[in-house]
Amino acid sequence: NRQITLASRPVGAPTPDNFKLVETAVPTPERGQVLVKALYLSLDPYMRGRMSDAKSYAPSVKIGEVMTGGAVGRVIDSRHPGFKEGDIVEGRIGWQDYGLVEGGMLRKVDPDVAPISTALGVLGMPGLTAYFGLFEIGKPRPGETLVVSAASGAVGAVVCQLGKMAGARVVGIAGGPDKCAYVKDELGVDAVIDYKAEKDLAKALAAACPDGIDVYFDNVGGPVTDAIANLFNLRARMIVCGLISHYNMPDGYVGPSILRSVLTNRVLIQGMIVFDWHDRWPAGIAQLGKFVKAGKLKYKEDVTEGLENAPATFIGMLEGRNFGKTIIKIAE
Ligand code: NDP
Repeated sequence: NRQITLASRPVGAPTPDNFKLVETAVPTPERGQVLVKALYLSLDPYMRGRMSDAKSYAPSVKIGEVMTGGAVGRVIDSRHPGFKEGDIVEGRIGWQDYGLVEGGMLRKVDPDVAPISTALGVLGMPGLTAYFGLFEIGKPRPGETLVVSAASGAVGAVVCQLGKMAGARVVGIAGGPDKCAYVKDELGVDAVIDYKAEKDLAKALAAACPDGIDVYFDNVGGPVTDAIANLFNLRARMIVCGLISHYNMPDGYVGPSILRSVLTNRVLIQGMIVFDWHDRWPAGIAQLGKFVKAGKLKYKEDVTEGLENAPATFIGMLEGRNFGKTIIKIAE
């Protein structure tokens, strides 16, 4: 059983020597447990937080422990009545070939709805983040302007499309011409901004949002979010979903300068963690699954083969080298 463990804690951006590949015996399940062979591993920005020992909403990975992570896999051996050999499941298997998971913590994946890897993206945690964050906090109304940062990514791409379905005018922000073309042409947003190419981001945003901003779904924080500040309409809503531009900063980011605008425009800012709606995940997955099956919700996956490539791929994702939901293919 190959495992990727945390060798040391990164200072700033993670490097390959923060990770270590080790070999261990394949474990045997005890009562209530299920042994799962990983097929697809999800790489997600939150894992950067788990590598650090700073206080967060979830415990950090300890030095020498297997890196935490969601994966889709096949049941090899089950001592839980809800699962049998051959079932396809999703759960916290970690960065390894085989994981032992409590049966109650696994969910079955229906291969008839969409390819099983989607359980890590559009039909999994990132899709649900978009769904609940947008509809429970952002609540876009027809004709309102919705701005989405990291718009080509796993969460952002779903937000863009759900926003269009809700009748909003959607403006995506992404880095580079390929991602911007995808957001505009494939996801069907009304305008897109390449934040890496714009010298004056605030000006470009003002031009793309002639009626101001009613909902801002923020995945990045930092300078992109600062550029939003003066465009908020009265009673705008801002979903603080992620701050990826801060994650690799050794001392965090100093800001934000948006607060004056928050005050004068009575903007509602709410942080969110997708687990807040855990009891409603099955309903969310069912709804998103219907959209995918009907061809109304597109998704893009960025798949790299081989568990041994997980560290480099993860480091690249934090720098924006991924294009779509980042996934490692571990086995057939
Ligand atoms: P993505 O698939 O969007 O991948 C990350 C993307 O972030 C990169 O492709 C890159 O796109 C962008 N990015 C990287 N660095 C910067 C930077 N300095 N400034 C601006 N953009 C940057 O990841 P996810 O969709 O999985 O996650 C998006 C965000 O949502 C993350 O912040 C994550 O932590 C958060 N999240 C929060 C959850 C919650 O419950 N609150 C749950 C899931 C995710 P580009 O090339 O366009 O810059």
